[in-house]
Amino acid sequence: MLQSKIKNPVIAPLRILILALFSVAAMITFTQCTAPQSGDTDSGATESGTYATDDADRTYLSMNEIMEMSYPFELAPLPYAPDALEPAIDAQTMNIHHGKHHQGYINKLNAALEPHEELHGMTLAELNAGWNTMPEEIQAAVRNHGGGTLNHYIFWNVMSAEPAVPSEALMAMIDRDFGSFDEMAQEFAGAASTVFGSGWAWLVLDEEGKLHIRATANQDNPLADGLTPIMGVDVWEHAYYLNYQNRRGDYLGAFLGLIDWATVEANYSAVSGM
Ligand code: MN
Repeated sequence: MLQSKIKNPVIAPLRILILALFSVAAMITFTQCTAPQSGDTDSGATESGTYATDDADRTYLSMNEIMEMSYPFELAPLPYAPDALEPAIDAQTMNIHHGKHHQGYINKLNAALEPHEELHGMTLAELNAGWNTMPEEIQAAVRNHGGGTLNHYIFWNVMSAEPAVPSEALMAMIDRDFGSFDEMAQEFAGAASTVFGSGWAWLVLDEEGKLHIRATANQDNPLADGLTPIMGVDVWEHAYYLNYQNRRGDYLGAFLGLIDWATVEANYSAVSGM
């Protein structure tokens, strides 16, 4: 169940319909969408670590493994090579984002928690859900860097170079809660495009098991509001500025095409049992 990454056989007409809906949503939402350019980027050396060579070999952290991480936190390798998502996300951006930004949040979270042994047994999910119950002197650090640690793991988790389309079961849940896949995608893109400054947009699950779209500022995670994220996009400029400059809409259009809906469904299965 947790690892239910079985790509349900989606019959060809449904696959075409879904791709068409994606295209329509992208066109409506991103009227100036153009193909991202990555020709100027240098794929360069990869960060240390091993990468799955394709999705068949993909063995990334599950959502439960991410949520249940605890002190001391460590930076896991990306689930794909840094250039695997080109041209949507260029290798230089991936290397800096993962190796510098994500590592930075992890280092600062560890530094904040180091003198607080009573918190070392808390999971990453618990830290994010309860940052405002922490000792006052570390609340801001747990909120910002605990969020930065968790949020980026979810972001790496949901993207793939060979993304699966939603299964019939996931489509039924999306239809139930949003009316259609198209409406969900438009609401998500709208939330992501209207975040003022830095933040995230999310597909979240509430306590009744209903799906919603939410946006959060800075590195806030929806867990603090009692909602559990199963998919999210980073709209900090560091996530896209090298390749897209100020064209956040183009980046969001490219991101929508990278979402592995089999992983999102596995995340749903994982967190709905939490
Ligand atoms: Mn980021």
